[in-house]
Amino acid sequence: MIIRSIEIIRISIPFSAGTESRQNRGRAKDDDAFNAASPSHRRMESLMLKVTTDTGMVGWGEAFGHGSNPVTFKALSDVVGPMFIGTRLEDREQTLERVRRAVHGFGSTGPMVYALSGMDIALWDLAAQDAGVPLYQLLGGVPRTLELYASLVSYGNDPDEVHRQVSRARDLGFRKIKLHETDVDAIAAARVALPVTAGELMVDVNCPWSVAEASDIAQRLKGLELTWLEEPVWPPDDVAGLALVRRIGVPLSAGENAAGVQGIKALLEHQAVDVLQPSVAKVGGISAMLQVFALAKHHGVKVVPHCFYFGPGLLVVAHLCTLLPHEVAMEVPFIEFERLLYPALAFKPRMDLPSAAGLGFAPDLQVIEDYCVERALID
Ligand SMILES: [Mg+2]
Repeated sequence: MIIRSIEIIRISIPFSAGTESRQNRGRAKDDDAFNAASPSHRRMESLMLKVTTDTGMVGWGEAFGHGSNPVTFKALSDVVGPMFIGTRLEDREQTLERVRRAVHGFGSTGPMVYALSGMDIALWDLAAQDAGVPLYQLLGGVPRTLELYASLVSYGNDPDEVHRQVSRARDLGFRKIKLHETDVDAIAAARVALPVTAGELMVDVNCPWSVAEASDIAQRLKGLELTWLEEPVWPPDDVAGLALVRRIGVPLSAGENAAGVQGIKALLEHQAVDVLQPSVAKVGGISAMLQVFALAKHHGVKVVPHCFYFGPGLLVVAHLCTLLPHEVAMEVPFIEFERLLYPALAFKPRMDLPSAAGLGFAPDLQVIEDYCVERALID
């Protein structure tokens, strides 16, 4: 089977985060454009790849993502995508490795690696369809209904709003809830709304602090019994610094910003995290995730994949979660889209896997038409 064309589709869909006056919440800063959890966002983007073979089979992929999309789009359309046209699906491992090596000078993370991640995913989708089985089955996963955890957007460190939103998520049945707040008072308000006996609370701060600052705040958070504190240290690849903060005793998580499998390896070898969070559309796709899972198992570290996606990427993570223990819940954004790209995006605390062969991504084509902001066809 030959890869005939690759369509790159960037869509942007407005969403509601259920806040009463969202426009007044937080400060819209230019650099917030690259933080998917920023309180200034009104729309969520997805960068999708539609790969078509000479037999007419269609495989879908997703590349990271959000504010990086204009650059990842160029990486796909001008560099990575054309290198796959005319290649055989059966040779995908060799082709991926050849392209990885060819573009290694661009660095071990960033848009070029995101583009490759998207291609890897689409080729796995095709391989599973070709085998006539759902993706999880090809990967050796155990099918099950997945628990989802609600990943809340940032409410600008407003304790009242945090309390209200955590209560709302809890009322909807979520028992594992993650915040994107940095102030101890706002985090404490969440713990009031979700006591330890009622559920698990996680906090993602997106790399703001020095090692000293992070250690100080971890000390102050200790009594709140967080399931994890995510990416407390700047820069994100300061794995030795992260390992120092971990000594405070608050469980730490990281991995979404790791520079490929080697970056993940560094986190594990420094014993920097309690929970590893590889991101499928950033780290190198499904092939890289399988390597990460094996490394984490070797080091005895729990994996909870990062998943701030709403295109095919979310379904990929769902399939991958079937390779992990039952207590692993999958991340979904706690937002409501103006229109749904596919039904599973009406998030509930549990989700069933698609049973179709491959990834099972069946988007509403009219939604793609109506919300497309950039599109290119490579053939
Ligand atoms: Mg995060």
